[in-house]
Amino acid sequence: MGKVEKIHGVETINGEGFQLTVLDKVIGAARANSMWPLPFATSCCGIEYMATMGSNYDVARFGMERMSFSPRQADLLIVAGTISKKLAPVLKQVYEQMAEPKWVLSVGACACSGGIFDTYSVLQGIDRVIPVDVYVPGCPPRPEQIIEGMMNIHRMVKNESLRRRYSDEYKHLLNKYHLNEDE
Ligand code: SF4
Repeated sequence: MGKVEKIHGVETINGEGFQLTVLDKVIGAARANSMWPLPFATSCCGIEYMATMGSNYDVARFGMERMSFSPRQADLLIVAGTISKKLAPVLKQVYEQMAEPKWVLSVGACACSGGIFDTYSVLQGIDRVIPVDVYVPGCPPRPEQIIEGMMNIHRMVKNESLRRRYSDEYKHLLNKYHLNEDE
């Protein structure tokens, strides 16, 4: 019998001349450790995100230092800041331009719920227009909280089944946001 070991968080069974593991887990680990974030930063939370990118916190250790300002080469949308209703269709378009699989991190009270701006012009949470995977509370959240949010995204990515994006549940989620062009 082989020996059970964990390599980069992926459980494997190793023996002489063979190594067994689950494909979902290997792909999940590869995706989680090479995420390309697209920062959609509009206000103060964006500045906090810039601090998270700096040398003190160093997101390069998670393989996330390569910012993508093109949605087509990004797999994590980080929304940090106040989103006005006028900007909401732009955010939705950016999300639609990202290829699957993609994830969304909502940073700060404004992105999560409109924050203190309970006004006619501010979107009361980005989940009114796009699905959100992880919410980071705070006004603004500290870089440690943003990193915790990223780590939660990594956990989701590592454990996501390869079949999830083809499931009825996922199609239903996209339909709710009118994001599924096939239906
Ligand atoms: S949550 Fe607070 S810090 Fe963040 S964008 Fe809104 S007002 Fe600014």
